[in-house]
Amino acid sequence: MGLHTPPPASGAPGTKPYPTNTAMPLTEDLRHLARTKIVATVGPSSQDHETLSSMVQAGADVFRLNMAHGGPDVQQQNVDTIRRVSEELDTPIGILVDLAGPKFRLGEIDNDRIFCETDAEFWFVEGSSGAPNEFTCSYAPLVRELSVGDQVMLADGTVSMVVIGKEKGRAQMRVVQRGVIRSRQGINLPGVKLSAPAISVVDHQHAIWAAEAGVDFVSLSFVRAPDEVRALRDILRSNNSEAYVISKIEKREAIDRIEEVVAASDAVMVARGDLGVEIDVAEMPVQQKRIINTCHRYQKPVIIATQMLDSMHESLRPKRAEVTDVANAVLDGADACMLSGETAIGQYPVETVAMMNRICLATEASIADQPPRQNDGSVSPVLHDITRAVVRGAGAMAHSLRAKLVVVASYSGKTALALSQQRHSTPTIGVSQNETTLRRMCLYWGVTPLREAPAEDMQELIRHADTWACRVGFAAKGDRIVILGGSHLAAGPGGNPKGVHDVVVVHEVEGGS
Ligand code: PGA
Ligand code: MN
Repeated sequence: MGLHTPPPASGAPGTKPYPTNTAMPLTEDLRHLARTKIVATVGPSSQDHETLSSMVQAGADVFRLNMAHGGPDVQQQNVDTIRRVSEELDTPIGILVDLAGPKFRLGEIDNDRIFCETDAEFWFVEGSSGAPNEFTCSYAPLVRELSVGDQVMLADGTVSMVVIGKEKGRAQMRVVQRGVIRSRQGINLPGVKLSAPAISVVDHQHAIWAAEAGVDFVSLSFVRAPDEVRALRDILRSNNSEAYVISKIEKREAIDRIEEVVAASDAVMVARGDLGVEIDVAEMPVQQKRIINTCHRYQKPVIIATQMLDSMHESLRPKRAEVTDVANAVLDGADACMLSGETAIGQYPVETVAMMNRICLATEASIADQPPRQNDGSVSPVLHDITRAVVRGAGAMAHSLRAKLVVVASYSGKTALALSQQRHSTPTIGVSQNETTLRRMCLYWGVTPLREAPAEDMQELIRHADTWACRVGFAAKGDRIVILGGSHLAAGPGGNPKGVHDVVVVHEVEGGS
């Protein structure tokens, strides 16, 4: 548990100012919800039904279950509660299971804390520690794999040491940057080549549980290579899960192979808590932009994570720099912003989600008139070239006609993702009957998932779109909406035979039916 995810606090969360379990489905009026998606981590402050429900109404789209804190027993309860809330609010909610990956921690420290003065010497020892200046590590081969000159960062980089000597079963270190460390805090070893597998036995068990629990996204911490991403996908697929694999970028190795890692992933998370220790923290903002740009070229959703509204753990007012950080993530082109400890153990989980939603809304308003991004996904095309052209055309038409809404009926959700990646100024409704598709859309910027049966033909789709546009509050009589469909709508699973979208229609709303 790093400083960016402090240990769970006891005590009940604050009072909830939001109504819960309203009879009205969320999709009745979506204008108060940001187009940038919000991922909120579930923990002791937020795992009760009422708080989860309020967080969704305040703007949370995806809930993250952190497997570093609480195994399948605890997290299965969270899955059950989230699915119940989703049904009650009649809105899809994504669930992201975050695997711990090769994260190393300190063992127990005498009296739980120790001050490390500059130039003081400490040891990592195998087995158990016999003196206050001897540390143990949750990763048994650590001592063997450390070399003289290696950098050891403790407690999220608060304290740094350098390895100055090795003896059998012990590695000697000198403090470079002083500070206090505590039992079980995280250890980062920037640049050290370790033999630890990307997916431990425990991660593997958690992945199988995630597959059985039917979650929508599974993320892998400390990804170093694209093979690790594929290995996780294989585990999921062989356990009948279609979950998307999210790579957490928090190692130099992943930065160095970012193109390959992004290409191998379904989505990406800029995991700044560890990234800011594993690389020079000063370099992190530029890397954040570089990762976002790479994801954009590959049309993969990207989540910006950690410390976004950190001070809201204990305060109803965020720091100005935090507000700016969220706004800048939106302006950089992030698909989603994440809350960690703020919602897991903070005092104001609902208010923090509401604040993030407000910041995103205000920032999105400032860029609403921008033309669609020039990006047709040709770097690694997943869509038929006709669909790609239709998506490009639809975005341009929606922009120039000042359409109020784009509607796309999508079986796999891929066309909805391609539309999202254009960042065109018009809100998008992704219609599907497939629960997996709808919940994936919870991570697609600007796409509102809507559960509806597929239309029989284009005329029916237009009639339905007319009704939905009015229902979700985005359009009224006379407004224009842009509808994407296929000319053989009813011929295949939820659409046309090849899943090709080959029709764009501009429709003037008649006022619902
Ligand atoms: P964590 O991941 O909170 O699981 O460490 C996010 C990060 O490192 O930023
Ligand atoms: Mn991390």
